[in-house]
Amino acid sequence: MKCSHAMLLIEKNARETLSNQEKSLVEKHLEECIDCRTYRQLLEKMLNALHDLKEWQ
Ligand SMILES: [Zn+2]
Repeated sequence: MKCSHAMLLIEKNARETLSNQEKSLVEKHLEECIDCRTYRQLLEKMLNALHDLKEWQ
């Protein structure tokens, strides 16, 4: 899987549940790709920050 595709699925995962097939594809890619692991961590941090912001409103 290309990184661009993996990143799309990582973003999709933040909004909705991935199919089992998509999940295993992403996980396999994440195991061997540090760039996408970093990307997922950043995305999770960003989403948590957004979530915190909402709770303050
Ligand atoms: Zn990658």
